[in-house]
Amino acid sequence: MEIACLDLEGVLIPEIWIAFAEKTGIEELKATTRDIPDYDELMTMRLEILAKHNLGLNEIQEVIATLSPLEGAKEFVDWLRERFQVVILSDTFYEFAGPLMAQLGYPTLLCHKLTTDETGKVVDYNLRQANPKRQAICAFKSIYYRTIAAGDSYNDTTMLAEADAGILFHAPQNVINEFPQFPAVHTYEDLKKEFLKASNRDLTL
Ligand SMILES: [Mg+2]
Repeated sequence: MEIACLDLEGVLIPEIWIAFAEKTGIEELKATTRDIPDYDELMTMRLEILAKHNLGLNEIQEVIATLSPLEGAKEFVDWLRERFQVVILSDTFYEFAGPLMAQLGYPTLLCHKLTTDETGKVVDYNLRQANPKRQAICAFKSIYYRTIAAGDSYNDTTMLAEADAGILFHAPQNVINEFPQFPAVHTYEDLKKEFLKASNRDLTL
């Protein structure tokens, strides 16, 4: 059997922090690991900004609920789930992804978790494990599943390399250039074709 492993942000939904920053007008929340490479420093800063603006989990989820998956994402996930077991491997947090996962029909999601206090303030974050996307692929392989993975960025490349087949989707040109071993596509129609090519079964569009 085969498992299709998908990255979430940039593949099925917009980048949550950037979309959230745009919705709330809080410019400082647009910083990413490209601006602040140390993830702990970046997350500590984000939690401080949320606290400063009095944004607890309820307010954050209300804003995130106004975001939508990328156009065609839901249809693509439905298509994929008819042909593969689908698991989403993401570096987001369950509490942030929730409202968008509802719009995607709740596919299986493996990601990280936030800690909130009794008032709903986000006080900490808990990463599931180090190198979580690659580790998930290793785990599926250990129970004899074939894996086909798709993602858009640097944090996906170890997952793509570990999978039986890896596909870049919506990736920026620098990532495509650096990882020429992976096919790179930009539309869901082409992504479907790459999954069919990578499958060892006789599937059709
Ligand atoms: Mg991504």
